[in-house]
Amino acid sequence: MASISSALVIGGGVAGPVTAAALAKAGIEATVYEAYPEPTEGIGGLLALEPNGVVALETIGAAAGVLEAGTPITRSRMAIGGRTFDLVASPSGLPARQAIERADLHRVLREQAVAVGVRLEHGRRLVSVSEEADGVVAHFDDGSSARGDVLVGADGVRSTVRTLIDPGAPGAGYTGLLGFGGYADVDLDVEPATMTFAFGKRAYYLYWRHGDGRVAWGVNLPSPYLSLTEARRTSPEEWLRTLREVYADDDPGALLAASTSPESLQVVGALHIMPPVPHWHRGRMVLVGDAVHAPSNSTGQGASLAIESGIQLARCLRDLPSVESAFAAYEGLRRTRVEKIAARGAKISHAKAPGPLARRVMPLVLPLVFRAQAVARVAEEEQRYAIDWDAKVA
Ligand SMILES: Cc1cc2nc3c(=O)[nH]c(=O)nc-3n(C[C@H](O)[C@H](O)[C@H](O)COP(=O)(O)OP(=O)(O)OC[C@H]3O[C@@H](n4cnc5c(N)ncnc54)[C@H](O)[C@@H]3O)c2cc1C
Repeated sequence: MASISSALVIGGGVAGPVTAAALAKAGIEATVYEAYPEPTEGIGGLLALEPNGVVALETIGAAAGVLEAGTPITRSRMAIGGRTFDLVASPSGLPARQAIERADLHRVLREQAVAVGVRLEHGRRLVSVSEEADGVVAHFDDGSSARGDVLVGADGVRSTVRTLIDPGAPGAGYTGLLGFGGYADVDLDVEPATMTFAFGKRAYYLYWRHGDGRVAWGVNLPSPYLSLTEARRTSPEEWLRTLREVYADDDPGALLAASTSPESLQVVGALHIMPPVPHWHRGRMVLVGDAVHAPSNSTGQGASLAIESGIQLARCLRDLPSVESAFAAYEGLRRTRVEKIAARGAKISHAKAPGPLARRVMPLVLPLVFRAQAVARVAEEEQRYAIDWDAKVA
């Protein structure tokens, strides 16, 4: 082990509790510090965990909770210009993709982390650090502080730890899309376990049959940048009016928008993407999850990659003799994979926020693009990633 016994984990979203639970499993005492004053559902809405994310969660004993709360998705379709194409089926021998409420995922991860001895502290927003030869002191906005042998930045796409590691680090980019999630109470023929990715005339959306029979759907609306707070200043009623107009000519987009109530519409704000981050670690500080590799949501891999990274970091700290060698090995294990997936996602995001010319030719071009992608089975390769927890990191 890298001669450490304690870790401060900043951020209690997805990566934080997973990393802390994996560290606890590796024999390192971990405490999670979350800025929000109480357990939250994050930004809300729904997300999909890919098979690799579910498999990775088995390592920390959290997969069963996700399978219980999620809706399994085994088939994917693409709908464009009135035509529907089957995409690659779920890889054989792997668990199904799981569509899950973000609040449920947070709850499952939190409960599992606490069950293996992780301490979770809310209302502790990291503002600065003091670095020592053999540790780090985290300072929080309430004036309190905590000391650990290492500090893990799992503080999301707007990471404070990223800039403490490198003040010149790049910030997150905006995909040009705002996210919404909702449930439509509608009698629509939607096959169970099938997720349809639909390119409407003016905006992209996706939908599937939720466990309770309603149709769950997600929206990517081309828009000038709005922060989550700004987007939520507009009422759900008003956003629904916009969505009904945007999807008016789309089938079944129009019906989904018409059958969604303001109460079930969740405004989840701007969709971000992280460019490659030059420095993943410095001294005794290191980054995991969106803080260092937020791919476009089009990849469906953001949360799954965050989970994988947290577990790989814990393995490296368990097996390597120094903090420096552990952080370097962790970056070596992760950087190529996450940057390749991010590059694929960036191309898809462009297609989802097309200009007027691209919109006209999209019905002709996109099927070919996506067909080729399906044939290449890129996504399937990504989903076959598995971590051998017991194998020693060289
Ligand atoms: C609309 C939308 C849809 C998405 N859909 C999918 C999907 O279908 N599949 C998928 O895999 N991914 C999806 N993603 C991406 C996914 O949500 C992220 O990849 C995932 O949440 C990353 O987890 P994280 O823990 O790194 O960051 P986060 O979940 O953002 O958690 C970071 C946490 O750190 C806390 N924090 C921030 N700053 C501080 C501080 N200074 N001190 C203490 N705490 C702090 C925050 O409050 C937050 O709780 C989607 C994202 C969006 C926005």
